[in-house]
Amino acid sequence: MTIDHISLTHVRVPLGEPFRISSGAVSEKDAIVVEVGAEGLTGWGESSPMAGSFYGPDTPESCWRDLCESLAPGVIAGHPLDSLAGSNFAKTGIETALWDIRAQQQGVPLHTLLGGTAAEVDSGLAVGLYDDTADLLRAIERHMREGYKRVKIKIERGRDVELVRAVRREFGNIPLMTDANGDYTLEHADVFREMDEFGLLMFEQPLKGHMIAESAELQSMLRTPVCLDESLESIADVERAISLGALRIANIKIQRVGGFANALKVHALCRAAGLSIWVGTMPELGIGCAQGAALAALDGCNYPTDVESSLRWFTDDIVDPLITVHDGRIAMPTVPGLGYRVDPAKLDRYRVAVWEMP
Ligand SMILES: [Mg+2]
Repeated sequence: MTIDHISLTHVRVPLGEPFRISSGAVSEKDAIVVEVGAEGLTGWGESSPMAGSFYGPDTPESCWRDLCESLAPGVIAGHPLDSLAGSNFAKTGIETALWDIRAQQQGVPLHTLLGGTAAEVDSGLAVGLYDDTADLLRAIERHMREGYKRVKIKIERGRDVELVRAVRREFGNIPLMTDANGDYTLEHADVFREMDEFGLLMFEQPLKGHMIAESAELQSMLRTPVCLDESLESIADVERAISLGALRIANIKIQRVGGFANALKVHALCRAAGLSIWVGTMPELGIGCAQGAALAALDGCNYPTDVESSLRWFTDDIVDPLITVHDGRIAMPTVPGLGYRVDPAKLDRYRVAVWEMP
């Protein structure tokens, strides 16, 4: 595909309330919106690292540099994206925009091009850490009115079993899971043994990302499936984790693995290994979330996605229509491409910086 033009807009949208996990908190969502012009069509992508070290080492600033200095000039000069220096989060902005263009060229919705057949996907609620457990319970109650199909709570060392117990006491036998964002080590195995008694769907990323062998050891002690997220950055990571038995469930994040092509490879590897799969977010703004929902339409994505309605996290979103959840489900667009328009007035309103070539 011959790429004629790329423009980047760094946007910042306030969150409705701060989002806190074991590694930190954010109150604004940064994203780099990537517009790619090629062969007479326009595709949209999002490079969506979280600010600070909330999720990983990539930041809005590091992705901006990768995109302006290496990736955008490189692909316009005709070099394959794979051959260029840049992080997975940065590459995702361009790679996913190219899939949008390809879907438009073929006249099919993005999820169809990816191989998905579902007309709608199940959405799960994720809630952050709160100082006061009563606030956590109130947040779950407030958001569950949209009918989300499961609840994921964040945990951290010292704030784990009591949170699970409180949610079980308040909401009974709802589909419930925890996400530690890698806050624990094997020394804390007893915490997971204790939480093993609560019938949870999964323990997401109990140990640090690099602790794949240790994760296998932890899984061998537990009935509850271990789900890996941060650990699965590369295809080699996924192969190693599968071969060691380090997980029973995989969280696929498009941003973390560098775009749809790698996400589809991870999906195929996990399916071949008989693992369950679901699609995570951090969350991204509307472009990234719409992409996540499209990926979640693939067979084998048998747990609800983290993609939620736009206004669950953000005071506003840059896509039109906003992403909405009805009865816990997100409907797949039926028009060619991504199926969501990017609102130029909102790009202006939330703009921090712009860059374009040529
Ligand atoms: Mg996670």
